[in-house]
Amino acid sequence: MRRLLLWFAGHAWLASHVPRWGFARRGVKRFMPGEEFSSGLPAAAVAHYEEVIAASAGIRSEISVKPTQLGLDIDPAAAYSNLERLADTAARSASFVWLDMEGSAYTDATLDLYVRLRAGHRNTGICLQAYLHRTAADVARLLPLEPAIRLVKGAYAEPREIAFGSRHDVDANYLALCAFVMTEVKRKRLRLVLGTHDVRLIEQVWRFGEALDMQRSQIEINMLYGIRTDEQVKLARAGFAMKVLIAYGDAWYAWYLRRLAERPANVLFALRQILP
Ligand SMILES: Cc1cc2nc3c(=O)[nH]c(=O)nc-3n(C[C@H](O)[C@H](O)[C@H](O)COP(=O)(O)OP(=O)(O)OC[C@H]3O[C@@H](n4cnc5c(N)ncnc54)[C@H](O)[C@@H]3O)c2cc1C
Repeated sequence: MRRLLLWFAGHAWLASHVPRWGFARRGVKRFMPGEEFSSGLPAAAVAHYEEVIAASAGIRSEISVKPTQLGLDIDPAAAYSNLERLADTAARSASFVWLDMEGSAYTDATLDLYVRLRAGHRNTGICLQAYLHRTAADVARLLPLEPAIRLVKGAYAEPREIAFGSRHDVDANYLALCAFVMTEVKRKRLRLVLGTHDVRLIEQVWRFGEALDMQRSQIEINMLYGIRTDEQVKLARAGFAMKVLIAYGDAWYAWYLRRLAERPANVLFALRQILP
């Protein structure tokens, strides 16, 4: 099921047609409040993100962008200058820019963008995926930059040669990566954000923090809008630093399919919205 949904997610014809079907749009509502910024959500371009930064000044918001949306596929130099422009705008509003991590075809290019960007822009971070074998080495490469890393399990269909295949191995690597960097988090030489809804894993990471006499507020957690909202509230009330990532925009098709692939029960939920 997961592989099939991820195949649908990468299919160009489906991506251009499905979003126009009214019944498909109904199914997506649970995870995205809408397609327009006016309804709580923006679209995808540098000028637009600048508007978002300006519009959300004062609420300590952060933006998260896919490098291919900024042109990485077409011209990496242009993507870099777009990112720089966004990072400068964000800095003026005391905001922060995250680079999403896409499929493995973009991992090297995204890391290269980040290494260049971080040198002059402290208000930038990068997402790394625990399912990739290479991630420990990538973390080690980034540590001297005192980076900001959002650690996720990984949402794309990757071959076994480069990615852990079983949930157990991905979780074990996630935990190992957190153990590896936790003293750096404590010393504030690394901003680590746990990008996961896996509350059991978060508790295990917190045990490392507790052992190092850290405060709950030093553990940052990000979850997606509409997923485990009850846990988001509980963790925030318990004192953890919790933020919710709200995705929006009309290019929702592949994003939505990846959310369905993460939890088969979502497929039933989506079908219930679609069927009369
Ligand atoms: C803030 C944030 C940013 C992210 N950015 C990226 C990125 O840049 N690149 C990337 O590859 N991936 C990204 N992801 C997605 C990530 O890689 C995982 O695919 C996704 O978070 C599901 O894995 P999990 O860590 O929640 O753990 P899982 O083990 O998949 O889930 C743990 C539990 O959470 C619940 N849950 C998880 N997913 C869903 C869902 N879709 N619907 C309903 N319940 C669910 C279930 O109860 C499940 O048992 C991001 C995730 C988050 C939270």
